[in-house]
Formats: sequence, C-alpha cells, structure tokens
Amino acid sequence: MPSHAPSAFASVCVFCGSSPGRDPAYLAAAVETGATLARGGIDIVYGGGSAGLMGALADAALDAGGRVTGVLPTGLFPDGVTATPVRDHHTGTFVIEEVADMHARKARFHALSDAFLVLPGGLGTLEEMAEIATWAQIGIHDRPIGFLDVLGYFDPLMAWLDRAVEEGFLRASTRTQLLVGPEPAPLLQEMAELRPVDEPKWISP
Ligand code: AMP
Repeated sequence: MPSHAPSAFASVCVFCGSSPGRDPAYLAAAVETGATLARGGIDIVYGGGSAGLMGALADAALDAGGRVTGVLPTGLFPDGVTATPVRDHHTGTFVIEEVADMHARKARFHALSDAFLVLPGGLGTLEEMAEIATWAQIGIHDRPIGFLDVLGYFDPLMAWLDRAVEEGFLRASTRTQLLVGPEPAPLLQEMAELRPVDEPKWISP
C-alpha cells in the first residue's frame, strides 16, 4: 500500500481545547500549528470556535493567509463563543459550515480531512480524537493521526495506549498509527510518511 504523500494533505482536521490552558505554551503551540498549516498550503478543518486553542489556531492560520473551515452544530454553542470569525483583520478565508448535531459534525470532520492533528484539550478533544482513532482501527479510514505534545501533556495518554497494547486490548499496528511529536512541521512530515495498516480489523479471540 502506498505511504501518505505530503501532497495528500490538502486538509488537516485539528482537535484542540476550547480553553487556553494554564501555561502560555499551549496557546503558542496552537498558533504555531495554525501558521505552519497555512504556510504549507494545507486547509484547516476544526470545530469553529473562537475561544481557547481553537481560536488561536484559526486566527494564526487566517493571519498567515490560510483557509479555515469551522464545522458547528446549529444553535449548540452560545453566541460569541463561536462568533465568526475569531478576529476581523485576516488575510485568509474563513468558512463556517452549520450541521444538525454533534454526530453530523464529526462525520463532516471525517469527510473533509486527509489527516488529523490532536492538540491539548479536554473532554471534547478526547471524544473527537477517540472516535476518529476508533474509525481507523476498524478500517473506516486509514488516515494518520498525530498528537502535538506540549509540556508532556499527552504522556499519560501514550502510556495508556502502550498499556492497552501490552494487556491485549489494542493491536500494536493500530498503536503505531498514532504518532506524537513536539513540533507541528516534523510531526506532519512523519504523518505523511506513515504507511497505512493493511491488516484484519479486529483482535482475534
Ligand atoms: P474541549 O477539549 O472540551 O475544550 O472541547 C474542544 C472540542 O470540542 C473542539 O475540538 C470542538 O470541536 C468542540 N468544542 C468544545 N467547545 C466548543 C465551542 N465553544 N465552540 C466550538 N466547538 C467547541
């Protein structure tokens, strides 16, 4: 099976916190990610919010002339939190897609994206990441998933994934599809070079 060529990444979906996090390093990582993707000509798909890491990501991408699509469930989030866009002095293109509900939103994340980046966040980020990783596990897609680590935030999750493999709850091949790195550009490169898994989808009894 061919590896994922960098050109395959026309668009990358980013899951990240709607909060800024305690340390400024989290916002800085979101800014760097947004700018890196935009400068690379890679469209961003994300949850459409203007708060926290989400807003910082979108702002940075738009300031760098990027194209950002926010997918929002109609009426779910209060006005202002998801106000369009983020700031009003961008050079990029900001598109908002409204969908019926959270399930439709994740289906759009999947449909619009060639790869998935996970930045620090809370339950919403975890939930979105877990669904897209599960879809990879059962063969709905074979697109790479990368975790941008900041201050070791994902260390416990990576340890849990390793434990799940050791204890027979997760295939090692699925585990290798989940990449982690501290810088967006090298992480994206690694994701682009990843060879998709071509194996039976389920752990045998
Ligand atoms: P959390 O990690 O709990 O802050 O949730 C972040 C994720 O959930 C994002 O990737 C969004 O898709 C979604 N989300 C949570 N809050 C908002 C919001 N205020 N506006 C838009 N999306 C949100």
